[in-house]
Amino acid sequence: MPVQILDTALSAVGHTPLIRLDKIARAQGLKCNLLGKVEFFSAGGSVKDRIAKAMVEAAENDGRLIPGKSVVIEPTSGNTGIGLAMACAIKGYATIITLPNKMSLEKEALLRALGAEVIRTPTEAAWDSAESHIGVAQRLQREIPYGTILDQYSNPNNPLAHELTTGPEIIEAVVATPSTSEHPSSGKVDVLVAGAGTGGTITGIARAIKKTHNKDCIVVGVDPKGSILADGPESSHPHHDNPIAYTVEGIGYDFVPEVLNFEDIDQWMKTGDPESFAAVQQIMRKEGLLVGGSSGSALSGALRWLESDAGRQIAATEGANVVVLLADGIRNYMSKSWFLEIALEAPPSPLAGTIASILSTK
Ligand code: PMP
Repeated sequence: MPVQILDTALSAVGHTPLIRLDKIARAQGLKCNLLGKVEFFSAGGSVKDRIAKAMVEAAENDGRLIPGKSVVIEPTSGNTGIGLAMACAIKGYATIITLPNKMSLEKEALLRALGAEVIRTPTEAAWDSAESHIGVAQRLQREIPYGTILDQYSNPNNPLAHELTTGPEIIEAVVATPSTSEHPSSGKVDVLVAGAGTGGTITGIARAIKKTHNKDCIVVGVDPKGSILADGPESSHPHHDNPIAYTVEGIGYDFVPEVLNFEDIDQWMKTGDPESFAAVQQIMRKEGLLVGGSSGSALSGALRWLESDAGRQIAATEGANVVVLLADGIRNYMSKSWFLEIALEAPPSPLAGTIASILSTK
């Protein structure tokens, strides 16, 4: 980011740091470097700001969005909505976000704070039903004059935003960091681990790395248990099926979005809620980074992959660079019971006895 006055908050989208997760790596006995791409530093607080900005700007250039008239409507798990609501607040478009019930109150409050209308939809509604967040957004688009769905599920600017910004930022940081005896580095991104929702993030970053930097980079997708994405391009839920519900927000789906390119993803790891939330606690307590739930899924998937037959060699290689995408921050989840549980759980405290004895003396 240039060190000068920025025109709007949209200029503060992206440009996020790549931060060593050394204490976690050491605790796991890893020889490789574990690096977090920490997306909550972006202006709207998540990796999805990038695509919101890119989709709005592309639609303005195509004439699809007309200032003063267009109403931006989007079905989202919240973060794309926050990015869009931010862009639309700045640019002056009305915004309607359809949001499944399971998504946090914090996301709804942020959306409303930015001036968006929010419509909640049943979490269990199949994606192609009229009641789902997608179905409701489509109905609103049909009936609202100048209503426009930019459609993160099919919009090429979703993966492209990551191919042009997130990916190159990761590559630049890795290439610019010298190999030292304290921190040996292969000089390459050897592994990328990221969760998939629309799949735009992992597809776009994978393309940037494989096309321009390291065609042998291993790309690991993380998919929550209860989602179908890891099952491959042809998979779908029969609608009568009762998929496993999961609490982590923003990753996993009951359909395969068009922007998710399976050819760019080499391996998949399935993750559960408890391991994801335990990993969030580790990232907070060991690395001081206030990340959200899907970041825990990504870290947990990464650590299990590094223990697997496929990952063991990388785990034991000094200087190998394993990048984990940490998609959003805990600001989105402060009222969720899982956060309160991990936050309030007492850490093993060497000072507990001392404090108790000080406070018990009159
Ligand atoms: N984590 C969180 C918290 C998200 O909101 C999203 C976006 N749905 C993702 C991960 C996954 O990003 P993508 O849609 O690009 O796959």
